[in-house]
Amino acid sequence: MKNMKDIDIGAARIRVDDKQIINCHADLNQLVPFKYEWAWQKYLDGCANHWMPQEINMTQDIALWKDPDGLTEDERTVIQRNLGFFSTADSLVANNLVLAVYQHITNPECRQYLLRQAFEEAVHTHAYQYCIESLGLDEGEVFNMYREIPSVAKKAEWALPFTQSLSDPHFSTGTPDMDQRLLRDLIAFYVVFEGIFFYVGFVQVLSMGRRNKMTGTAEQFQYILRDESMHMNFGIDVINQIKVENPHLWSSAFQQEMSELIANAVELEIQYAHDTMPRGILGLNATMFTEYLQFIANRRCAQIGLAEQYAGATNPFPWMSEVLDLKKEKNFFETRVTEYQTGGALVW
Ligand code: FE
Repeated sequence: MKNMKDIDIGAARIRVDDKQIINCHADLNQLVPFKYEWAWQKYLDGCANHWMPQEINMTQDIALWKDPDGLTEDERTVIQRNLGFFSTADSLVANNLVLAVYQHITNPECRQYLLRQAFEEAVHTHAYQYCIESLGLDEGEVFNMYREIPSVAKKAEWALPFTQSLSDPHFSTGTPDMDQRLLRDLIAFYVVFEGIFFYVGFVQVLSMGRRNKMTGTAEQFQYILRDESMHMNFGIDVINQIKVENPHLWSSAFQQEMSELIANAVELEIQYAHDTMPRGILGLNATMFTEYLQFIANRRCAQIGLAEQYAGATNPFPWMSEVLDLKKEKNFFETRVTEYQTGGALVW
């Protein structure tokens, strides 16, 4: 691990070839020359997608939530469970990023993206808080679901050990074992947590929006989903680049372990789908989620170079990929959708 060292006056200027994603001993304060253009491009794309939760109109949601006949009990459960899961899950991601991952990624352009991502995680936690406050939910109850509601708690519990090893002050990369630990944490967070554990909740809430229910909350989730898919794609690029630079880490035993990690996560997320909608609502049921999770797990595996585990799984929610592209989906929820290009809320 290398964070800050004394400034070396007169040292040679940094060259592209000196740069590495992990275990780099070159100066980390020199952003250019770029080696990983994809990381810089994602930083620029993230900035172009800037949005804030309070810019989204929650009026219709508030009226619907207060109307005793507005939503079924099952629909209320879906909203509450997902706010419960996400409100603490995005904090978990942010803490892992800032307290663990950041110090071990030794590349300035990747760190530039990590700084942007960390802010986006703060915006997401803000969005959940904003929904909870708008709807007048019991914030203590919602923010404690990750400790009190088993289906929510199981996912948080699954993720915690990964971040804990890396935030241990005695942990440092530089040996094959420790480098594999970092790679495992990156796969656990970017591929599983942000790439699988978020998706049942995204489909559930966005489905409500498609049926013109809780459109403000759904729009918040739509922006979050767009950010999250970029976080995941950045993580996948980082994982693949670490593999290229350190091929010895990607042993067959490690690949086997990662395949099992993903299979195990798919089972947990299927359980979450059952627990959050035991009876099926909105034309969705837990069986469709099993198919969907197998489909996205296959894609995640292929993206990091693992064998697909669920032959023939197809996508029962093709509209999910369209949601990711807001420009094509301007009238998706028939509410105002702003194209965020710059920080438009700035007033002098
Ligand atoms: Fe994220």
